[in-house]
Amino acid sequence: MKEKPLLVMKFGGTSVGNSEAMRKVKAIVEDVLSQGWMPVVVLSAMSGVTDDLLRSTEMAKNRRYDQVLQTAGALTTRHYQVVDELIPETERKVFVKQQIDQLISMFAEYCRAIDIIGEATPRVLDAIAGIGEMLCVRIFAEYLNAHQVSARAMDATKLIVTDHAYQGAHPIREKTERKVKEALLPILQSKIVPVVTGFIAATEDGTTTTLGRGGSDYSAALLGAYLPASEVWIWTDVDGVMTADPRIVPDATTIDVLTFREIGELAYYGAKVVHPKTMQPLIDAGILIRVKNTFNPSHPGTLLTIENEKQTNGEIKAVTSIKGQSLITIEGRGMLGVPGVAARAFGAVASTGTSVPLITQASSEQSICFAVPQKSVETVLRSLNDAFARELATKDIDRIWATDEVVIVTIVGAAMRSTPGIAGRIFGKLGLNGINVIAIAQGSSEVSISLVIDSADEQRAVRAIHELIVPKTEMVS
Ligand code: ADP
Ligand code: ASP
Ligand code: MG
Repeated sequence: MKEKPLLVMKFGGTSVGNSEAMRKVKAIVEDVLSQGWMPVVVLSAMSGVTDDLLRSTEMAKNRRYDQVLQTAGALTTRHYQVVDELIPETERKVFVKQQIDQLISMFAEYCRAIDIIGEATPRVLDAIAGIGEMLCVRIFAEYLNAHQVSARAMDATKLIVTDHAYQGAHPIREKTERKVKEALLPILQSKIVPVVTGFIAATEDGTTTTLGRGGSDYSAALLGAYLPASEVWIWTDVDGVMTADPRIVPDATTIDVLTFREIGELAYYGAKVVHPKTMQPLIDAGILIRVKNTFNPSHPGTLLTIENEKQTNGEIKAVTSIKGQSLITIEGRGMLGVPGVAARAFGAVASTGTSVPLITQASSEQSICFAVPQKSVETVLRSLNDAFARELATKDIDRIWATDEVVIVTIVGAAMRSTPGIAGRIFGKLGLNGINVIAIAQGSSEVSISLVIDSADEQRAVRAIHELIVPKTEMVS
């Protein structure tokens, strides 16, 4: 008999945020089973739970263990409620509740340790942050089992092997691939649906790590690439990837098809709908992704693929923004023609572990200007002042300074940078709306242009640029 095609489906926090949402997820799982797919389900924590867990670590650090216990109580109640609403009175229900109790006790114990030491290491933060996913998969797997769909909850700590870079760990390909195949394929062959935690992984010696906030999409991609699956579907709370964040632009529309490069730029520059690393493992494997809405499953959503045959070059497809940035400028006439200044500057930034989302187009060699997240400004300035202490003393560098909060707005579309007139249209639109462009970014690829603007102008700028997107219905096919 022919093997069923494998499908990895990831459901985000809102999609599992309460029992009503979980009912929809079950219906989707049953539907794909009836269509002949064999699904692997990857789940995020219930919406807000990861934030609650991480906030508790702050409470513990501030010696407010009483508040931690309150959160522990609230988390137990919230998860119990879903169990009560979804799982009939059986031994199963008792068992799931015991597991919830164990996980919440573990959470409280870790927080107690932080409370005693007065410090939370990245390692313990990861151990705590991942508990939301562990709670969620146990509940959902038992819910499926209680309704005649054989399922098994699995922690990705047994599947995804990473380095020790806590809070943003890097998977080790060969080891992960072997574990994924060894652990998941036999279960799938037995027609059992694996219900796997997103977000978490483990080092080779078994210590829990996480793939970074929003990382469940990446978890799904890793499983999809290494099984390998035929497709990966990301189920979220909007109708796919849209022309802008619908929370900023209410009339944003769904984009039917996007290339991996385009979605890569969008995700990197703030479109939260897909984690920026998601596409990486799937490019080599040639596996496509669909982004779909759990609450509107009949909508086709967005197809993410390597090539786009219908590609119309030069058309603006989407606009996105990323807040909380600051521009750092190193300036001084003495820098003119001195080799290695940029290398030393970026070396100093890198030594703080800060990544630079963009470097702006400098018209002369008298200044270097780049963005960093605002929360890293102090550390980065300190590191730069140390690195250039001599040049500052000799006045070869006049000053190193940072702006107040700025926003990076990125416009994405195929071959856009080489299309004449696009920049003019964008600047014209911003000019008409009285929005000042502080800097233009050196786009890292052909498919995007980034601008830096004052944080107060974010919404107006995104809405104004969005007006340049030609609605699908008006496009000549
Ligand atoms: P999940 O919990 O399902 O992973 P996220 O909150 O991480 O969901 O991502 C989905 C959200 O991303 C949407 O609710 C939407 O507000 C936001 N978003 C930002 N930019 C876009 C975009 N271009 N298209 C769709 N959604 C976007
Ligand atoms: N629950 C994790 C977070 O909130 C991972 C995810 O949702 O993708 O960051
Ligand atoms: Mg997400």
